[in-house]
Amino acid sequence: MSEAIHIHPVVDSGLKPSAAGFSGGTLICKCKQDQVKIRIEGSIAYNHVCGCTKCWKPAGADFSLVAAVPRDKLRVTQNESKLEVVDASAAIQRHACRGCGVHMYGRVENKNNPFYGFDFIHPELFQESGWPPPEFAAFVSSVIEGGVAPERMAGVRGRLKDVGLEPYDCLSPPLMDAIATHAAKMAGLQPH
Ligand SMILES: [Zn+2]
Ligand SMILES: [Zn+2]
Repeated sequence: MSEAIHIHPVVDSGLKPSAAGFSGGTLICKCKQDQVKIRIEGSIAYNHVCGCTKCWKPAGADFSLVAAVPRDKLRVTQNESKLEVVDASAAIQRHACRGCGVHMYGRVENKNNPFYGFDFIHPELFQESGWPPPEFAAFVSSVIEGGVAPERMAGVRGRLKDVGLEPYDCLSPPLMDAIATHAAKMAGLQPH
């Protein structure tokens, strides 16, 4: 008998379609009081589940839920003093709440990073509903590093496919292309 597969609560409970005209909202941390609140202006992009070991995930989930927003569309509106950077040496500086441990946003500070200009957020923290659902699964093999038994991976990938989240062991092809495009531009290549 194999253990049930828990991708992420948002996925396991059945993906909900986005609401027409979703235009952002407020992310709230899990503290009982003095919550950190973050205002997002506009919608989110590239929502996906991520199997890496760096992203914050809720208890019992094997994947996190992550999306991108332009950094100028994100503003901490309450209790910013509770935020601290988890690992200042990481490419994505994840700002976590010291009270509840939830990562409220991740910011790319290196201007040479292909994702400079974007912040990464966890859409499940929106107090509003209607945000676009995840589109794919990234860094799937990495859940093994998070403790999933290798022999369960066929089941994990099968479950992801069943719910329409194509499993990739890195990022999705459009995002891998964006990274490579940035690298080619930095190298001064003329595309042919
Ligand atoms: Zn908190
Ligand atoms: Zn991740």
